[in-house]
Amino acid sequence: MNKSHHISKEVLIKDLERAGIPKGALLHVKASLKAIGQIDGGAATLLHALLETVGPQGTIVVDAFVTCYPLPLNTKHAQVISTEISPSYAGALANAMIQHPHSVRSKHPIQRFCAIGKLAHDLMDKHTPESGAYDVFSRLVELDAINISIGRKAIGVGTTHLAVEKMGFIKKPSNMGLNYRTASGEVKTFVVNWNGGCSRGFSNFLPLYESAGCLKWVKIGNADAAITSMKGTLEVELKKLIEDASFYFCDDPTCKDCRLNWEHSTGSYFKVKFHSLITIIKRKLNILSS
Ligand SMILES: [Zn+2]
Repeated sequence: MNKSHHISKEVLIKDLERAGIPKGALLHVKASLKAIGQIDGGAATLLHALLETVGPQGTIVVDAFVTCYPLPLNTKHAQVISTEISPSYAGALANAMIQHPHSVRSKHPIQRFCAIGKLAHDLMDKHTPESGAYDVFSRLVELDAINISIGRKAIGVGTTHLAVEKMGFIKKPSNMGLNYRTASGEVKTFVVNWNGGCSRGFSNFLPLYESAGCLKWVKIGNADAAITSMKGTLEVELKKLIEDASFYFCDDPTCKDCRLNWEHSTGSYFKVKFHSLITIIKRKLNILSS
């Protein structure tokens, strides 16, 4: 690729400003670097562009959650201790944030958010093993935060998991956990105590956000990006879920999470198994014919 096609920090700042991100913003970010294009300097450049856009009075927050394992932990997994510098599975931007000298990490052992800026300590220090997994999202809503999801495949407005938890739906326990060190230095296993699950159906809400006027589409580099009001998206989600409790389910007939795991899932075990088998056979036939 020609050097002129590379995307610089200055171009990203211009795009973010044109998108309407004001100085001093409290910004929750989800980003697919691939969707943006070839960024000079990669994730670190995107992070610097975000920080310069919101300025010293602003705050950037990302999900920087840590992998957990089936319980009881096997010998290998029992050796993994979650710390404030544990890498995240959430992608390059999250890991660039973790490595930034001014970042603050949530104290929750698994749902470790990461933040930089004016409100970073306020948001992260209060998120402890005793907090709800998604309490940071509640705070972001209270503080009228903006979400930016960069890349169509990275759309995550931040409030949907919170809305599902707030509805109090019942789900089979996941039986997952991770070791961490308590404030007194003792190693303890933290057991997942929230529902979480499949997020492939979360895009079902997009047209509703648009008609409620809390989402606007912009361009960041080559990527389509959604800018949303977190207060607005939570309101839309709760209203819809009261009307239709299954609205956040994906439409994949092989998705165990949506078809079987919730108390209000309506799939049958045999149907899920049948569709999974068909998918495996199709995949094998494709491999044979290619
Ligand atoms: Zn699903």
